[in-house]
Amino acid sequence: MQEETRLIVEGRDPHRYHGAVNLPVYHASTILFPTLDAHDAAYEARKRDEQVVTYGLAGTPTSYALENAVAALEGGYRALVYPSGLAAIAAAMLACLKAGDHVLMVDSVYEPSRMLCDGLLRRFGVETTYYDPLVGAGIKALLRPNTRVVFVEAPGSLTFEMQDIPAIAAVAHAHGALVIMDNTWASPLLFKPFRHGVDLSIQAGTKYLAGHSDLLIGTVSATKEAWTKLRETTRSLGQGAGPDDINLTLRGMRTLAVRLARHQASAMTLAEWLLGRPEVARVIYPALPQDSGHAIWKRDFLGASGLFAFELHPASRAQLSAMLDHMKLFGMGYSWGGFESLLVPAREERLKHRLHWDGKGPLLRIHVGLEAPSDLIEDLAAGFERLRKAA
Ligand SMILES: *Cc1c(COP(=O)(O)O)cnc(C)c1O
Repeated sequence: MQEETRLIVEGRDPHRYHGAVNLPVYHASTILFPTLDAHDAAYEARKRDEQVVTYGLAGTPTSYALENAVAALEGGYRALVYPSGLAAIAAAMLACLKAGDHVLMVDSVYEPSRMLCDGLLRRFGVETTYYDPLVGAGIKALLRPNTRVVFVEAPGSLTFEMQDIPAIAAVAHAHGALVIMDNTWASPLLFKPFRHGVDLSIQAGTKYLAGHSDLLIGTVSATKEAWTKLRETTRSLGQGAGPDDINLTLRGMRTLAVRLARHQASAMTLAEWLLGRPEVARVIYPALPQDSGHAIWKRDFLGASGLFAFELHPASRAQLSAMLDHMKLFGMGYSWGGFESLLVPAREERLKHRLHWDGKGPLLRIHVGLEAPSDLIEDLAAGFERLRKAA
C-alpha cells in the first residue's frame, strides 16, 4: 500500500462501528471485564504484550490506532504516545539510560533536550558530551566504554545542519550503543529512521502530525529490540495522551501527505526568493542545492518540510522590531508544523554554544504555512521595507 493510502485507511474499521467513517473516541479509565475468565485472559494477554484493553493508561482502541499508524509509517516495530514531544524525548532517554552511563548528544539539538541532559539526567548520574553535528563516522573517537546512547536530530534545531545518520549509527552499534533520533522535522513521511540505523525515533506530534497548532502530543517508535525497555519505562512513568488529542492527531494525519507537499513547495519558493534579497545574508534549508547539507539530505531524505532559517545582515533591535512587530500573515511564536506561517528570531543565548554558528546578523526561523506563497512574499517584502526604513 502506498503511504498516501495508508494515511487514509490506518486505524479505521467503519463497519464495526455502524458505518461511521472515523473510529469512535474511547474516553476510558476503567474497563469492565464481564467474567473472571475474561479478566484473567486479558491480564495474560497483556503480559504477552498484546494490544488488549485493560485500563485507560494501558492502551485503548484510540491510542492503539495512533501508535500503530506512527509505527507503520516510521517503519518501527511498535510505538507509544506521550503528552508532548518533550515527554517522548525524556521517556526514550530514560528507557535507555541508568546512573553511570554516558550520552553523546548532538550540539544542534532542540534546546529543551539539552536542558534534559544538563538537568535531570545529570542529577540521576548520567553524563553528556555534546558533539559536532557534522562528525559522521568520526563519532568513534568520542565513544566511551559507558556510552549507551547517541542522540541525533536532523536537520539541527535553528541552524539546520544535516547529520550522516547511517555512519553514526554504524559506529554506535559496533560499540553497543543505541541511536535515538528526534525525527520531528521530516515527520514519518520524509525520513525513514529505521532504514538508516535508528533504534528509537521521536515525533513531536504537536507539529506536523497534528498539524493545526491546537494540541500537544509526542510519540516514540522503536525497534523490536528496544521496544521492551521503552514500554516498561513508559509504564513506570505513567505517561500517555488524552483521547481527544490522540483523535485530533489521527485526524490531522489524514491530510499529512498533502499538507507536507504544499509546505515543501511553498518553502522552496520562499527560500529561493529570500536568496535574492539584499537584506538576507544566507538561507539555511537542506533542500536548496547550495546548502552544505544538501548531499546528505538528498541521499537519505524523501523530501523537505516547511521549516528553515535565514540570516539577516546585521540589523539593530529597532530595525528587527520594525519588521517583526507588523507582519500580517507571519505570527511570532514557538512551535511550528501547523497550517499557518511563523517567523521567530533565534535567541542569541541559544546560538552561542553552537559549533556551526558564526553568523553576524540575526537568525530568523521561518515556518512556511499553507497560505498562498505570493501573499507570504508580499508580507516579507513589506517587512524588509520597514527594516530598511528603520535603519
Ligand atoms: C517542538 C519540538 C519538540 C517538543 O515538542 P512539544 O510537543 O512542544 O513538547 C521536540 N523536538 C523538536 C525538534 C521540536 O521542534
